[in-house]
Amino acid sequence: GAILVYRGLFLFLDIPLKLEQCLSFFLTVLLAGILYYYTFLDPDVNTRIIFFSLFFSLICFIPAFGLSQYKKEVGRFAVKLLIIMYCTIGLFYLYRVIWTLYENQLHDFMKAGLVHSLAVIACYFLVILVSFATVWIATDKLQIKLAKMARTDPLTKLYNRRTFEECCAVEFSRAVRNNSTFSIVMCDLDHFKGVNDKYGHQVGDEVLRIFSGILRNNVRKQDVAARYGGEEFVILLPETDSLKGISVAENLRAKVQSSTIRAGNDAHFSFSASFGVSNYIRDDDAWEVVLERADRSLYSAKSQGRNQVAAL
Ligand code: GH3
Ligand code: MG
Ligand code: MG
Repeated sequence: GAILVYRGLFLFLDIPLKLEQCLSFFLTVLLAGILYYYTFLDPDVNTRIIFFSLFFSLICFIPAFGLSQYKKEVGRFAVKLLIIMYCTIGLFYLYRVIWTLYENQLHDFMKAGLVHSLAVIACYFLVILVSFATVWIATDKLQIKLAKMARTDPLTKLYNRRTFEECCAVEFSRAVRNNSTFSIVMCDLDHFKGVNDKYGHQVGDEVLRIFSGILRNNVRKQDVAARYGGEEFVILLPETDSLKGISVAENLRAKVQSSTIRAGNDAHFSFSASFGVSNYIRDDDAWEVVLERADRSLYSAKSQGRNQVAAL
């Protein structure tokens, strides 16, 4: 049971198992043999306690060692607590070995005295603590995953529209307060319906992922690139005036134009996107106004022939 518990914990935390698996199997078989011998062939309670305690302390030190290899941030505190607990109980069981070595011969395990009662209590305590820590780590993991899922678009792994809007609201207040500006770039793939129709939706999705990769890799850390919906994307550029916003969009446009997509075995094709840029000016009373201008710029980039950057 103890082996299964920590093995589950290892799987859950992605701690590699390899050597431990052989070791715990070998130890369990060995212990079963020893317990059989000292129960039926040469009954001896003290020897059984000694071997069982040796085994159990090893079964505590193995997960303590495994858990010490855990390097991730999630559930760090719970893992530390478990290491301390496993080590304490492992040491206690070693102490029990020494204690039993110098103890008088026991005849009834149920009346064995304080150290042995404590050993049983320690087992219960370990089970409770491991369950508690596992729930704790699981909750931590889920919470982080949920928070990430709520912020990102599953197909492109860019931020989603909601995150973009939240960031815009924050950036708008900052720009008003500091008397600074920010830019919004809105972009849309050209003739994307044609890509879907000609090569299929799978290839269409791949184009969206490649396009998103280009956005992600060519903006600064503080910029917020997001999927606004369908094949429409937006980028919030803090502390960026219109000229700089246009040059960011122009750089992206060129990168998109020069990338190629594989469709099937040897067919290659390229694609393009249109960009609309706008920046916050003092008369704007909400960030939505800036976005609306970026959208209108995008519309004029489209109507002027696509694969270009327009600004208002
Ligand atoms: P334009 O140059 O005027 O933008 O033409 P367009 O064909 O790109 O524009 P339109 O709005 O007619 O088509 C958008 C297409 O995007 C239609 C829709 O099927 C496709 N699309 C939207 N979301 C996804 C998606 O997640 N995956 C795929 N494969 N296609 C998508
Ligand atoms: Mg389009
Ligand atoms: Mg569109």
